[in-house]
Amino acid sequence: MATRNARPVSPAIADPGIAPLATLPGVGPALVASLGKLGLTRVQDLWFHLPLRYEDKTRITAIADLRAGERAQVEGVVEAVERGFRHRPQLKVAIGDASAQTLLLRFFHFNRAQAEQLVRGTRLLCYGEVRHAAQGLEMVHPSYQRLGGSEASVVDEQLSPVYPTTEGLGQKRLVAVIGKALALLPPAGQLELIPPALCRTHGLTSLRDALLYVHRPPPDAHLGQLLLGRHPAQQRLAFEELLTQHLGLKRLRAVVRQRRAPVLGAPRQLHRQLLRALPFRLTAAQQRVSEEVARDLAQAQPMLRLVQGDVGSGKTVVAALATLAAVHAGYQTALMAPTELLAEQHLRNFRQWLQPLGIEVEWLAGKVTGKTRRQALARVADGAAVVIGTHALMQEGVAFARLGLVIVDEQHRFGVQQRLALHEKGRQDRLVPHQLVLTATPIPRTLAMSAYADLDVSSIDELPPGRTPVQTIAVSNARRAEVIERIHAACAEGRQVYWVCTLIEESEQLRAQAAEVAHAELCAALEGFAVGLIHGRMKAKDKQAVMDAFKAGELAVLVATTVIEVGVDVPNASLMVIENSERLGLAQLHQLRGRVGRGAVASNCVLLYQPPLGQLARERLQVMRETSDGFRIAEKDLELRGPGEVLGTRQTGQLAFRIADLSRDAHLLPAVQAVGERMLAEFPDQTSRLIERWIGGAARFADA
Ligand code: ADP
Ligand code: MG
Repeated sequence: MATRNARPVSPAIADPGIAPLATLPGVGPALVASLGKLGLTRVQDLWFHLPLRYEDKTRITAIADLRAGERAQVEGVVEAVERGFRHRPQLKVAIGDASAQTLLLRFFHFNRAQAEQLVRGTRLLCYGEVRHAAQGLEMVHPSYQRLGGSEASVVDEQLSPVYPTTEGLGQKRLVAVIGKALALLPPAGQLELIPPALCRTHGLTSLRDALLYVHRPPPDAHLGQLLLGRHPAQQRLAFEELLTQHLGLKRLRAVVRQRRAPVLGAPRQLHRQLLRALPFRLTAAQQRVSEEVARDLAQAQPMLRLVQGDVGSGKTVVAALATLAAVHAGYQTALMAPTELLAEQHLRNFRQWLQPLGIEVEWLAGKVTGKTRRQALARVADGAAVVIGTHALMQEGVAFARLGLVIVDEQHRFGVQQRLALHEKGRQDRLVPHQLVLTATPIPRTLAMSAYADLDVSSIDELPPGRTPVQTIAVSNARRAEVIERIHAACAEGRQVYWVCTLIEESEQLRAQAAEVAHAELCAALEGFAVGLIHGRMKAKDKQAVMDAFKAGELAVLVATTVIEVGVDVPNASLMVIENSERLGLAQLHQLRGRVGRGAVASNCVLLYQPPLGQLARERLQVMRETSDGFRIAEKDLELRGPGEVLGTRQTGQLAFRIADLSRDAHLLPAVQAVGERMLAEFPDQTSRLIERWIGGAARFADA
């Protein structure tokens, strides 16, 4: 609250934005509770609770013109009704219109009155998302309205906003309460937190107008622009949101930087020992990045460094060298990986490298349970030098004695929040650990600036010598037999082969089944060669046994689900077949392909696809054939799919912007950075209030 006293605006004017929601007329405890679930507690939270999208009920689409994936409003007459109880009760209603086509409406939740109303001949006006059905198109749970016999359907005059909401809170009530909050919007000058001079320089229009426009687009609004998020009002808000995120990360970084970290000096002797034992020499890039890391570690302020390097560029050894600095200074290192398989591989590498130096490496994954777990926890609490695991390392109950360094591999799968949670682990002695983040996703500059503004970046921009580029071809599934023929020939030459099953099924079980089918097929076709199988449903021990057998050359072919996507390292494997490659994104294809081409032999990758190829899939496969440059692939990926996917943060929600979209709005970023710099330096109070306004207490960026 101290900052508020320092506001340049007259302190006599109370800020209506910070009033609790209960002060709004007609807002009782139940509504306050529902809004609270959405993280909305103050009046200004409602101002900035922005529509997710708009529904266009301003027109009616003919059934013949509907396209799957779109939301549309349709008017039609019920032609047939069917009630089914096969797996669960359902109500299927077929409607038809003048375009002489039929659309299926499907309801799984319905009451008796509803079922009785929806009879043949009823006219309906409905709105929903169109999907492919077994025959033709369908809408599942459309919103609908019955029309009287001769009643003309009335379409809306303006777009209706659709807000993020929670169970028990309907759009109508949300729209109403947001309206009440908007009535309290202060005059433009008072609402604005970006200083006027900066607004002028960068052509930023009124925030107040933008908010009102976005919440209630007028009837003459430019529909196309609004639906795409490209309207100037949306762009104005996107600018402010991106700016706030940038400021939040910069602040976070500043806060962390003010803390003290243990000084981890360079352990020359240990470094020499490890390097001497390696079967290779570091590349110049590995050396440079190791030095950058070493310099950071020797400071009394926490390192926050992202090491990016393409698949196979050798990030692991850089991490191991950093670990030695912590060990030498008597501090613990925690290394986290996103999957068990990858964590296990690190465990093996680290044990192989560090145990000869007398350094013990502890294993702590989610699957370590019972007594083994208790013992491992005790050793961690007692100061075990190096601890490797999955995100289980962050769980409650894992206490470190003296955590000095945290290494997070494949960062793009962890969010900022998770990064912070680990930070907290090290705070017993008031020292926070250094952080080293490794990622194989080369992050385009614009994104790095925005999503990783809290990190310094080092690049391992060189692959170890002797790697031969992977020849990549795309082959239709119709020529599957030829591909298997080719595998046969490769095996006969003593090469090892990955066969990757990539069916994107929702459940691990279905994925495992698909892999089992492929395994049986290949076993039958490749008589005389050992074919192994690995998937996510297997026990860690069994997975390990299969990987070991493949690594030892006892298996000629390994059929795998995408569990092998990250990190697996078998240099003798030189042919990879990826099934259903058209379904994968570029980043994933690139990761997978990175499993071959690790040895000196020329490697090949066969992208099997199921025709016909869509436009996007065609472009992706084309990119894969043309280049193996991870950076180009990432840029292309960003272009084709958008940043949430590129950063792999869609699931973690880390980049869940309310209105901004990094790929659509990337052109705003240079100005965001310029304004951000000025605000941090000259307007600390407005900066705090912006962060408070957009991020609030929900994501504790600022006071982590
Ligand atoms: P990534 O950056 O994808 O994590 P890894 O650290 O797994 O790459 O390294 C990939 C492979 O390259 C490993 O087998 C590793 O031992 C090997 N390697 C790492 N650095 C070098 C080097 N300088 N020269 C030759 N091989 C190297
Ligand atoms: Mg790796």
